[in-house]
Amino acid sequence: MPMSPDFESRLYPRLNEIAGHFGTPFHIYDETGIRETGERLKSLFSRLPGFREYFAVKALPNPAILAVMADMGFGFDCSSVPELVLGRRAGAAGEMLMFTANNTTRQDFIAAMADGGSIINLDDITFVEKLPVMPELICFRYNPGDRRTGNAIIGNPVEAKYGVSHDQLIPAYEMAIKRGARRFGLHTMLASNERDYTYMVQTAAMLLEQVEAISGRLGIRFEFINIGGGLGVPYHPEDAPLDIKALAKEVTELFFAFADRNGYMPKLYMESGRYMTGPYGVLVTRAINRKEIYRTYVGVDACMSSLMRPAIYGAYHHITIPGKLSDMPAEVVDVVGSLCENNDKFAIQRKLPRISENDLLVIHDTGAHGHAMGFNYNGKLRPKELMLKTDGSVELIRREERIEDYFATLTFTPDILLPAQSAAGPDSEN
Ligand SMILES: *Cc1c(COP(=O)(O)O)cnc(C)c1O
Repeated sequence: MPMSPDFESRLYPRLNEIAGHFGTPFHIYDETGIRETGERLKSLFSRLPGFREYFAVKALPNPAILAVMADMGFGFDCSSVPELVLGRRAGAAGEMLMFTANNTTRQDFIAAMADGGSIINLDDITFVEKLPVMPELICFRYNPGDRRTGNAIIGNPVEAKYGVSHDQLIPAYEMAIKRGARRFGLHTMLASNERDYTYMVQTAAMLLEQVEAISGRLGIRFEFINIGGGLGVPYHPEDAPLDIKALAKEVTELFFAFADRNGYMPKLYMESGRYMTGPYGVLVTRAINRKEIYRTYVGVDACMSSLMRPAIYGAYHHITIPGKLSDMPAEVVDVVGSLCENNDKFAIQRKLPRISENDLLVIHDTGAHGHAMGFNYNGKLRPKELMLKTDGSVELIRREERIEDYFATLTFTPDILLPAQSAAGPDSEN
C-alpha cells in the first residue's frame, strides 16, 4: 500500500492548515515514519554485530533528514563531493561516510580523503593507481556480469557501467595490498526498487562467496560487505511490501554459516535510500485548472520539476484527494503540470474522485528520488520541503526556488576568449 496509513492519519487532519500557512506546492516528510523504519531495520539486523545502514544521500539530500539519520546512528552513502559535504555537515566523518562514485576524478578522491576522510569504494581497477594515496581501508564495487541478473531498473550487469568485473576482483585487491591497503570491504549494488527479498539474500550470498574466494587466494580478512540499496517499496495499492523480516532472518543465517566456516564474521552494511524515506514523503499540490478537450486535464500547481519519476520511468504514484473518498463520483483524468512537455503528467487516464479547482491533491511516496531529482528545464522552479516532526510541529526545511536562484549561475561580467589573432595558429605564441 502506498503512503503509510499512520502518516496519513497524522497529516490529513492538518493539511489545510499547513497548506494555508506555507503555500503549495510542497513535499512534506514524516519524521515519525522515518524513525520507525530506521529503528525496525536496526532491531531486525541486531544479531549481526556492527550492522550499519549508510543512508543513500541522493534519495533525499536535506540536512534536516540527514540529522534524523545521524541521530539513529546511520552513516551516509555519498556519490559526489557535495553529498559528502552534506554528510559531514550532518556530523558524519571517517568511516561513517562511504564514497561510492563512478567515473571519478582525482579531485573527487582528494576531497573524499580530506576532512576526516571516508570509506573509499573504488568503481574500477584503474583507480588503484589513480588514488593519490592508498588508504588503509579500501573497498571495491563488484559487478558480477552474467553471474547474476539484476532487476529491470538497474538492468543487466553486463551492460552496467558500474564496478569491477569478476576477473578483475582478485587482481584489484592484490594491487591495493601492494600499495598499502590493510583493511578490506566488498560492495555491490544490483537492484533498484526490488520488493522480492530473495534478490537481496542472493546478493549477500554472492558477496560472502566472493569474500571467501578472495580471502582464500590472498590470505586477507574482510571487515564488511555492503549489499547496496535497492530495497523496494509498494507504490501501487496492489503491490506487496518487501518482506524485510524474512530478509533479515535469511541474511543473518548466511552470516552465521559464514562464521562457522571461516571463524569470523564481517560486518553487514547496506545503503538504502528509497526504503528509508520513500513512503514517508508526499507532494501536496493544488488543482488550479480544469480543461476539457479530447480528455479531461486537471492542472496542478506542481510540475515535473518537483517529481520526475512519472515522466522519466513511467512510474506510478498514487494520488488521493483528502476529504474525497474513492466511492464519490469519479472521473478519468490526466493530472498535469505546466511544462511544455507532454510527459509532464503525474497521472495518465487515472480514475479519481471528481476534482474541482482549489482542491488539494496528495501525490504519494515522494520521499525518495522526488525533490532530489527535480530540474529547472523550462524555467520551472523546485518547490519547498517541510518536515512533520515527532512533536507535531511542521518545519520548513528548504524554501522554494525563486527567480534569483534561476539567475544565480548567469554571469553578466564578460569572460571571453577571442578568436586567434594570427593565421599561424596557437603555436605562434613565442
Ligand atoms: C542510488 C543508490 C543507492 C540507493 O538506492 P535506493 O534504491 O534508493 O535504495 C545506494 N547505493 C548506490 C551506490 C546508489 O547508486
